[in-house]
Amino acid sequence: MIAFFIILFGLIIGSFLNVVIYRFPRGESIAFPASHCPHCEYQIKPWENIPVLSYLFLGGKCSSCKAPIASRYPLVEALTAFVFYLSFLKFGLTWDLLVFALFGALLIAIAFIDIDHMIIPDSMIIIGLIPGFYLWLSGEGQPLNSHLFGFMGLGLSFWVIRKVGTLAFKKEAMGLGDVKFAAMAGWVLSWDIGLLSMFLAFLSATLLFTVLIPMGVIDRKQKIPFGPFLCIGIWLGLMWGREIIDWYLNAFFVM
Ligand SMILES: [Zn+2]
Repeated sequence: MIAFFIILFGLIIGSFLNVVIYRFPRGESIAFPASHCPHCEYQIKPWENIPVLSYLFLGGKCSSCKAPIASRYPLVEALTAFVFYLSFLKFGLTWDLLVFALFGALLIAIAFIDIDHMIIPDSMIIIGLIPGFYLWLSGEGQPLNSHLFGFMGLGLSFWVIRKVGTLAFKKEAMGLGDVKFAAMAGWVLSWDIGLLSMFLAFLSATLLFTVLIPMGVIDRKQKIPFGPFLCIGIWLGLMWGREIIDWYLNAFFVM
């Protein structure tokens, strides 16, 4: 029963994320005006704005002009609900759940904004620092040094990758946004899980490229933002980083 409400809450937050992803980078107000069809300006009725269900109900079309509604919208809603549900399984009904489910939602917003606009807004990175302060003040995190070291270490590593990559490829190899985002991740996750997250980010990018480039889905020359992979890595690290590190140490360093 609680799980049902968590999923419902996730769907509603996901619906809100769609608005944020669309309006925030365009500098539009998040609250006003009410949602409208980008095609015909038709103002969407409340019952047409129910996460996932309305999309299915309307057959993926605007009820006024029949223009297709991007499948991205129900996808973001379902993804957010899924992240909330898994967070509930991990954290139970705790403050951790609230903080880290919303952190997951922030990662989803960052990933899709980076896909659309190739930017990671500074203000979102600053909001993303909050869970680190939460861990520090609640005493649940690792020693403060580990978090600070994560912040400096990952930020500096990505800054070096950016510098070297730019020299090697003679074009911007990695955005400054990725550097700040990596530093944020190090602060929240502390240095060891932060490092693992960055590894998982590069791994997921590599996996995607080895599958999608031969399939012709993406072009080798296409500019792909790295932010979404960072989001995947950070989230996996947040959820299972400790388990992955323990497993690794046990598997390779304990007789
Ligand atoms: Zn329309």
